Amino acid sequence: MFIFQKVADLQAFLHAARAEKKSIGFVPTMGALHAGHLDLVQKAKSACDIAVVSIFVNPTQFNDRKDLEVYPRTPEQDVAALISAGCDALLMPPVDEIYPPGIDLTVQLDFGPLDKVMEGVFRPGHFKGMATVVKRLLDIVEPDQLLMGQKDFQQLSIVRDMLRQLDSPIRLVMCTTVREPDGLAMSSRNTRLSPEMRRVSPVIYQVLREAKTAFQEESAHKIEARAMQKLAASGLQPEYFELVDGITLQAVENWQDAAFVVACTAAFAGTVRLIDNIVIKGSE
Ligand code: AMP
Repeated sequence: MFIFQKVADLQAFLHAARAEKKSIGFVPTMGALHAGHLDLVQKAKSACDIAVVSIFVNPTQFNDRKDLEVYPRTPEQDVAALISAGCDALLMPPVDEIYPPGIDLTVQLDFGPLDKVMEGVFRPGHFKGMATVVKRLLDIVEPDQLLMGQKDFQQLSIVRDMLRQLDSPIRLVMCTTVREPDGLAMSSRNTRLSPEMRRVSPVIYQVLREAKTAFQEESAHKIEARAMQKLAASGLQPEYFELVDGITLQAVENWQDAAFVVACTAAFAGTVRLIDNIVIKGSE
């Protein structure tokens, strides 16, 4: 595996690969890699000739400074894990390689309602920062395929819309959420959970699954209220639990309202903010 810190060096490597007609699969990450990330890397490698990964803790997508400061960083383990997963090239750039001083690369696209609901309400500015870094990384890597996790469903919906607006030829591949045996969605932030919060957190997945079972019979309103209560009763501090149309991210109320419905939630487990979702009706 080649490790690059300079954008120009990665681009020279990719230029040579493209000259040999090699296809490129790209997995952007913020590091502290777990089996969910590595699954994306393996999928990139099996779908394309070259798997490229970036590790960049993007300061502009952290609306909370403290969250950025305590975000886990494990570069040595990440490098070893990526070698085992079959990654060909890793970009680990300093901030000024991604954001060259004096150049404003902020994405100014209008995502309509997509970035105004759920995470958009609780993390102002987050999606602008996310879209900006993803666009910058795509401009650098120019992959054939971009692999992202369903775990960040709203993020994926916004990236899909960005690619559509840019008329990009890049194929976006959504990969299913990898979970711990007790159902907790793998996340870099899980390492920061206290033992007590780690014990409690699988309730998030339980409540999502209960919503799926209940939705054929009950209104979204009722399900959401019960889910919020159950999350709070277990010791978490839920921010939202919403059943949304999987394309528009707008709230749905009844089973017949949409063909593709996703239940999405965010909750604090102590000081650690966790998000999760499951498809509860249909598929993309
Ligand atoms: P992050 O490092 O958290 O920014 O995530 C990088 C990529 O990995 C994103 O596309 C995430 O959606 C994806 N990802 C994170 N956690 C998981 C998981 N548990 N299963 C599958 N993909 C994941």
